[in-house]
Amino acid sequence: MKTETKGGYPRAKKRFGQNFLSDGNVLEKIVTSARITPDTGVIEIGSGTGYLTERLLRVAPCILAYEIDRDLVKLLKARFSDLNRFILIPEDVLKRNLETDIKEHLSGVDDIVLVSNLPYYITTPILMMVLEKTRSIQRMVMMMQLEVARRITSEPGTKDYGALSVIIRYIADAKLLFKVSRNAFRPVPDVDSAVVSIEIRRERPLEAEAQAEFFHFVHQAFAHRRKTLMNNMLSAYPTWERKDIEQAMQTHEIPLSARAETLELQAFLDLYFYYTNTRH
Ligand code: SAM
Repeated sequence: MKTETKGGYPRAKKRFGQNFLSDGNVLEKIVTSARITPDTGVIEIGSGTGYLTERLLRVAPCILAYEIDRDLVKLLKARFSDLNRFILIPEDVLKRNLETDIKEHLSGVDDIVLVSNLPYYITTPILMMVLEKTRSIQRMVMMMQLEVARRITSEPGTKDYGALSVIIRYIADAKLLFKVSRNAFRPVPDVDSAVVSIEIRRERPLEAEAQAEFFHFVHQAFAHRRKTLMNNMLSAYPTWERKDIEQAMQTHEIPLSARAETLELQAFLDLYFYYTNTRH
């Protein structure tokens, strides 16, 4: 099949979330925020036509990149063919095991940063994959939809605070670095964007299995936003009796009428530990 082109480049494909970032100032700010040194290994998800890749390669010793679109893979190979420090995996990043790829291509590199202008249709799955399944990435600097950026970085008691905000707080320190107008992209998307930095903590209070259970617990607490935390817990954990949940909440000074969106991370951990220690 013949590739559709526009101005020498393949035409942007909506199904792959292609909005190319062409604003030089924004690209430069992303690269600076990534704090790349001669010892840093960079992972880029969705290199696209290579605007960001090219800027990253000016400072990064090595880039491990993913790109799903075959037309763009051809273009990237042609553009960076003479560089053996640009390693391209021409596949869906969600089907890869990032730890295995890091071991194979970035072995011996201690400082690993993920930099991406994310495909927005899979922002949350990519974030969850990296946060739950990888241990080698230290920080991430990512362009995402402004709405998601707000959710990730929001404080308890605000309308954006939800399960994702709690889970991110458990794993990392997230900051909204700067907003980006939709006009910085081609084609222009329907939403505004923001660049977020996520510094991942190595130490976590829970082992992998308990961590997965805790994330489920947090999702259940927010399952019905109009319900109180008590009612969400009663529906999700039928064997956890009302009097025990009351006891757990009182022990940790959580009002019985509280909703999940008012609680700090520590309160979720306290309740989760109470639940696991007292369940029958
Ligand atoms: N980095 C480029 C830039 O800044 O202009 C492109 C960013 S564009 C928002 C997202 C890129 O991710 C596209 O090139 C798209 O083809 C690629 N992509 C989409 N889904 C992907 C997936 N599942 N795995 C790997 N790459 C993907």
